[in-house]
Amino acid sequence: MLLQVKGINTYYGLSHILFDVSLEVDRGEVVVLLGRNGAGKTTTMRSIMGLTAPKNGTVTYHDQDITGLSPYKVARLGMGFVPEDRRIFPDLTVRANLEVGLKKSRNNDNKWTFERVFDLFPRLKELSRRRGGTLSGGEQQMLTIARTLMGNPDLLLLDEPSEGLAPIIVKSLGEFIDRIKQEGMTVLLSEQNVKFSLKHSDRAYIVDSGHIKYQGSIKDLEKDEDVKKRYLAV
Ligand code: ATP
Repeated sequence: MLLQVKGINTYYGLSHILFDVSLEVDRGEVVVLLGRNGAGKTTTMRSIMGLTAPKNGTVTYHDQDITGLSPYKVARLGMGFVPEDRRIFPDLTVRANLEVGLKKSRNNDNKWTFERVFDLFPRLKELSRRRGGTLSGGEQQMLTIARTLMGNPDLLLLDEPSEGLAPIIVKSLGEFIDRIKQEGMTVLLSEQNVKFSLKHSDRAYIVDSGHIKYQGSIKDLEKDEDVKKRYLAV
């Protein structure tokens, strides 16, 4: 397993948010963490990345215990986190935004070059001289993902990537996920968009009120109308 989360409990102050959350992601998989608004998806991502340390339980990555390690150290080990709120640098050009990601790379044999990223996101090539802040929401989402790729991750955490995007952009986001999976990338996705997730993932976990309520293959989840109705409002 590339990533193993075992029985984590995470708090914000005194509020207990995650209850014994466990999940696993194997190399080459696209795994989705599904759940409604406020279910605990972002908190799970933050706990894995070290942005909010779990009170107990463990996070293991590359067979190394990374529980509570600072986010930049986790990033250096190869984990790339794309947060929900698309943190680009609005005053820097698209190209300069990508350079920031490149500098964070942990080694010199970076597989991700400008060329490769522009091949994946041709729109960013067209926009490369524009300032980040002038981009649309969908373009900023692509830029955030592209910048993270420049850091050469082997595990990509995408927190609700389809949120607030127009259907056509969601479609290209799906194509992007399919393509990097083909190229061997491992992805942990958090989503509320069930249709999108079912189409582009191999396995799913459902989180509800901070508890993992379901885990299984996408095929099994697709057939499980009861689970979908109960936890996903579909
Ligand atoms: P969303 O779609 O809203 O991002 P989510 O599944 O990602 O949903 P989380 O953001 O992980 O959910 O939130 C889980 C719970 O933690 C919610 O009840 C939320 O109100 C609470 N919460 C989130 N951030 C904080 C915070 N900084 N302080 C206190 N409570 C918080």
